[in-house]
This record gives sequence, structure tokens and C-alpha cells, in this order.
Amino acid sequence: MELPLVEPFETSFGVEDRRRFLLVRLEARDGRLGWGECVATREPLYSSESVATSEWVLSRYFLPGLLRLPRPDPAAFEQLARRFRGHHMARAAVEAALLDLEAQRRGRPLSASIGGRRRRVEVGVSVGIQSSPERLVRRVGRYLDTGYRRVKLKVRPGWDARPVAAVRRAYPDLEIWVDANQAYRPTAAERIRTWASRLGVAQVEQPFPERAIRAHADLTRGAPFRVCLDESVVDRPSLDDALAARALTSLNVKVGRVGGPRTARGLARRGDRAGVPVWVGGMLESGIGRALNVHLASAPEFSLPGDLSASDRYYHDDLLERPFTLGPGSTLEVPRGPGLGVEISERSLRRATRRVRTVRP
Ligand SMILES: [Mg+2]
Repeated sequence: MELPLVEPFETSFGVEDRRRFLLVRLEARDGRLGWGECVATREPLYSSESVATSEWVLSRYFLPGLLRLPRPDPAAFEQLARRFRGHHMARAAVEAALLDLEAQRRGRPLSASIGGRRRRVEVGVSVGIQSSPERLVRRVGRYLDTGYRRVKLKVRPGWDARPVAAVRRAYPDLEIWVDANQAYRPTAAERIRTWASRLGVAQVEQPFPERAIRAHADLTRGAPFRVCLDESVVDRPSLDDALAARALTSLNVKVGRVGGPRTARGLARRGDRAGVPVWVGGMLESGIGRALNVHLASAPEFSLPGDLSASDRYYHDDLLERPFTLGPGSTLEVPRGPGLGVEISERSLRRATRRVRTVRP
């Protein structure tokens, strides 16, 4: 699939102006369709996965394996997929599509299958790196006018204290989070601590490389802000180790990164039980992946607003007949229909499709 973004999105690892991604569509014998979005990016920049590696592992292992299962349900697929290392985003897309199908069959929204209860979920907006602090302040102002209540600013060495200070000056009471996507060396800890404290930043996300658990633990100690892990937590053992090392005081849960909605919910519970606030992260999903994230965020463990902005934050057309719009109190409504509960636009889908590959039993 290829979808043009409303505006280019820049993080510490690069700029995206159009999103290339895979959709998994499972066709059941009863004619129902289950959908899963694979959030792997065109290039392996966020993690080692890419569109190409996902397509390969899906068509070579996950989908043929799924078709051979006597009972192709999410639990059986999870067992099958566990034999293979990594490829979490590809795996998550299949599990999501299976959950969609299963929930449709039961006539219940997907949120119910993963323990979701809320009818609306609180969301925030993630703002990419801009060409100047003034531009960033204007951009933030626009989102606040739209109704978002907390913003997350992407930062990196050379784009941190100054732009964040500009936003703080313009909005003295705003809840500001920052996310570095691993861009700093551990030696930058003191500097980060200084500017983030001085500017009243509420949360610093993944400043150091994913395996630098000790560096995150050092930053966490006595910090007046939360230290959030994203890329470092890919499964239950990595979360347990990070918790034991006290390397986080906030947890970003992404379905793709951890290999599926079921694991995502499990990690959220684990974090919550350990007293760490949990929230749902985003990967510039189309409406299909966004819908899944909204269902997930309706589970009670998620206590901080997710990166789940309305459809028009990223796309003019996000593949849905009825896009997600921002509601009162910076919220999105959890779809109530069976499965994902969204209506996919055939026309938009055709327009965004670049190639189709079919795997048959
Ligand atoms: Mg992040």
C-alpha cells in the first residue's frame, strides 16, 4: 500500500512523506474478511523490520503455516509464530486479522476480545522535527486549537532544548513529552536531565539505544520527569528485565513492536501491575491499524493518552469511509460494531494498492 501523508513527518532517523506498508487480508470460508496492518516501514529504520522482510516472512512462513492449522485461531497462530525469531510486525498483522475475524464471528467489537471497556480513549499528538522553533510553535498551536491536550515533540541532538523551550514559552501549562527514538549516547544523560527538568517536560521517551538499559536506569533515578521505553521493550522478558533494572517509569506499547495485540495487552498489564503508567504508541497507521490501536487503548491498563490522533493528523484519506475524528476532551471514540468495527473504503483501498499477493491453502 502507499498513502501520501498530509505533511512530511521527521524523526531522529529520517523523513517520511508517504507511507509504504502492507495490509494482511484474511478471507474466511464464510466470506468474512479480517484485516491486519503491518506497521513495518519501507526501510529498516525504526527497527530491523521493513516492508520487504515482512512480505518475505509472511508469504514464506506465517501465512502458509496459518493455512495448514486445523483451527486457525489467534492462540494457535501465536504458537506457530513463536517458533520463529523476530518479525514481530509481520506476526502482529496476522494476529490482528485473526482477532478481527474472531470478533466479527462473535458479533462483538474487537475491544471486547482484549478486555477493553472504555467507550472513548484519550489521545495526544506527536509532532515531528520542524525546520525552525517558530514553525514548531505554530504547528503545536494548530494542534491545540484542534483540541489536542498533550503534545509529544520528536527530538534529537541539535534539536532539543531550544525548540522545546520555544514551545514552553508559548504554552507555559502545556503537558509536553519528548521522544528521541534512541538518538542520544548515554553520555548525554546529564544534558538531557538539565533541559528536560528546566523546561518542565513530563516525559522523555527512549533517549538511548534500545539495548542501553543501564543508561535509561541512570536517567530514571531521581528524575523529575518520567522516562519512557519504546524500542527497548519487545517482549515479556525485555519488559521484566527493564522493570527489574528500574529503567522505566512509563511504557509505550505498540502492537507491531511486541508481535500482536494479545502480547500488547499482556505487557500493559505487567507494566500496570508494576506501577508503571502505560499508553498506546503509534506508527503512522492508516485507519485500519488506527482502529486496532483504539480498541487496545480501551483496556483499563492504559492510563496515559496514546499517540492515536484523528485520521486527518496524518492522511487526507486513511482508507476508511468514516475517518476517526477528535472528540471532546482530546478523545477518539472506540468503534462499537463487530470486529474492528470500521468500514473500509473500497475506492480508497484500490487507489492505495500497489501490489497484491495471494497465498492459498
Ligand atoms: Mg517512540
